[in-house]
Amino acid sequence: PLPPRLFFEAVEQSPVAISITDHKAAILYANHAFETLTGYSREEVLGQNESILSSNATPLSVYQQLWRTIQRKETWTGTLVNRTKAGLDYLAELIISPVLDRDGDLQYFLGMHRDATKVH
Ligand code: FAD
Repeated sequence: PLPPRLFFEAVEQSPVAISITDHKAAILYANHAFETLTGYSREEVLGQNESILSSNATPLSVYQQLWRTIQRKETWTGTLVNRTKAGLDYLAELIISPVLDRDGDLQYFLGMHRDATKVH
């Protein structure tokens, strides 16, 4: 079996901002790239909802569609306008996938995003 340390080191050093939340989007884990991109330290975000990253520029309908998708246990891909701790807005290209337990019930969500502002 692969050692947990292998997963941890790989995720920690990923250039993609990765977080794991409970079923209501309360943050349980955030990797190093998440801290760098958002400007929030891990300690600050643990237990907080991912909505701390929300700017007022993303239409409500986008969030509603996101939640409808992930509650159906499907993967959502899209772009949100996020705001860093310093108050800078960036385009977050996001993938949210459900993590199910043995019974197939929603357990966690895995969020992965990168800054798409400077692409092109
Ligand atoms: P809210 O009023 O809280 O939510 C807007 C609408 O979303 C609601 O009207 C409702 O339809 C739906 N909704 C919100 N929470 C729930 C819930 N628990 N169950 C069902 N429907 C719900 N948001 C970002 O802005 N940036 C991110 O980078 C980001 N990453 C996320 C990563 C993960 C893994 C998950 C699970 C969620 C992420 N979200 C992210 C979504 C975030 O949790 C909020 O729903 C979103 O930011 C809107 O928050 P709000 O307070 O502005 O509005």
